[in-house]
Amino acid sequence: MDKGIGIAGIAGRMGRLLTEEVAAAGARLAGGIDRSGSGVAGAALFPDIAALAAGSDVVVDFTHASTAIPHARAVAAAGTAWVLGTSGLSAADETAVAEAARHVPVVYAPNFAPGVNLVLALAEKLAAALPAEQYDAEIVEMHHRQKVDAPSGTAIGMGRAVAKGRGVRLEDVAESGRDGHTGPRKTGAIGFAALRGGQVVGEHTLLFAAATEHIALSHRAFDRRAFATGAIRAALWTQGRPPGLYSMMDVLGMR
Ligand code: NAD
Repeated sequence: MDKGIGIAGIAGRMGRLLTEEVAAAGARLAGGIDRSGSGVAGAALFPDIAALAAGSDVVVDFTHASTAIPHARAVAAAGTAWVLGTSGLSAADETAVAEAARHVPVVYAPNFAPGVNLVLALAEKLAAALPAEQYDAEIVEMHHRQKVDAPSGTAIGMGRAVAKGRGVRLEDVAESGRDGHTGPRKTGAIGFAALRGGQVVGEHTLLFAAATEHIALSHRAFDRRAFATGAIRAALWTQGRPPGLYSMMDVLGMR
């Protein structure tokens, strides 16, 4: 790697940890950008995403969903790999991410912690084995009070894993934000509930509830460094890869 790793959102909670993890991995930090205009001591601050993409071998991006489309265009134009951790992307944002992946390697994951990716693999297997008519899938997540999107990207990732195991589209069966007179639960629905409070880094439980038994898969992240370590591992992994849309499962060699 000649230019090094660039960080979009360098002054954020994740951005600061990412700069530390670049050093811990013995890699070179190219610098970063941040909407706040502030950076991190010792790191170059670039004027915009185009300059960051041109000055980096790979951009690690933990910012805000509103950046997805311009950032996708910038990394594709610069031919720079992209590790995208931002959550709350719309369908149009995800189309732009997929378009960028036609030109550069993109690792896009709702959660870069290795343990969560094992949980997602198990979720898909359980969903394939447990009939949707008998086992109601419900996903409960809790995060810190500053989180701006709900359900979390990881919760949606869990929902996608269940939907894939059941051979359905999440968009057709998702039920979230139940309130008021909702009527009985639809057979085959995948339910979401989001709790917000305190400084919870990330808690997710996937419950399969049947009349005679409950099965729960839970993951708790105690330190967001787990995401930063995984994201830098993904950044190093992109080097020399062909263009494509990859997930953390690819980085971990789980498929
Ligand atoms: P944060 O608010 O602490 O940091 C975000 C930073 O991005 C801020 O410093 C902000 O100024 C900057 N920013 C926002 N818009 C920008 C723009 N247009 N250009 C440049 N910088 C911009 O948030 P955080 O806790 O670090 O999380 C950031 C994102 O990453 C969120 O979407 C969060 O849900 C997601 N996240 C994903 C994972 C994962 O493993 N995939 C883990 C943790 C957080």
